Amino acid sequence: MNLVGVLALQGDWRTHGEALDAARIPWKPVRVARDLEACRGLVIPGGESTTLLRLLEPTLTSTIERFIETGQPVLATCAGLIIAARDVSPVQRSFGWINIGVRRNGWGRHLDSFVDRNRAFIRAPRIVDAAGVEVLDTVRGEPALVRQGAVLGATFHPELTQDVSVYQLAFGAFL
Ligand code: GLN
Repeated sequence: MNLVGVLALQGDWRTHGEALDAARIPWKPVRVARDLEACRGLVIPGGESTTLLRLLEPTLTSTIERFIETGQPVLATCAGLIIAARDVSPVQRSFGWINIGVRRNGWGRHLDSFVDRNRAFIRAPRIVDAAGVEVLDTVRGEPALVRQGAVLGATFHPELTQDVSVYQLAFGAFL
C-alpha cells in the first residue's frame, strides 16, 4: 500500500487527511518514527512552528531526515515549511530540508489572513530567499509554492481549500 504519512503532532493534520481523501491518496497519521516505515510520502502540516519543534523528538526527526535524504516526497506547509527551511527570521531552529530563507508571520497577524486564488494564508511565513529552489507558484508577486528535489514547500494551507492539485503535485508521481 502506498501510504502518505501526515505528521500528527500538532496543527490541523486531520484536515490534510480529508484533503488527501479527496485526492484519493491513502494516508495515515505519523506520531513516532516507526509510523513512517509504511509511508512513501510525508506531509508536515501548519500549526505553530515553536510547538512543533518542541514536540519533534530526536528519533522521529532523524527518521524524517533519512526519509528526505533518500528522495521520498515531502509536502511542508506553513509552520511545516518554517521548520524545514534553511534560515528563519527572527532566528529560530530549523532543519534545512529546503534551501530557503523565511520570515515567520511575514504576511502579518491572524487578522491579516487572506485567501488569494485558492491559496489560504494564515499567519503565513514569507519566503525571503528562494534563490536555491524552483518557484512553482507566486501569490502577490512572492514565492508561495517551491520545490527542491522531492520536497515541496507551501507558505499557504492547501488543506483548507481542499486544493488537491498541490497533493497530486507532491505525491502523484511517486504513488
Ligand atoms: N506563524 C506560525 C508559526 O510561526 C505558522 C502559522 C501556520 O502554520 N498557519 O509557526
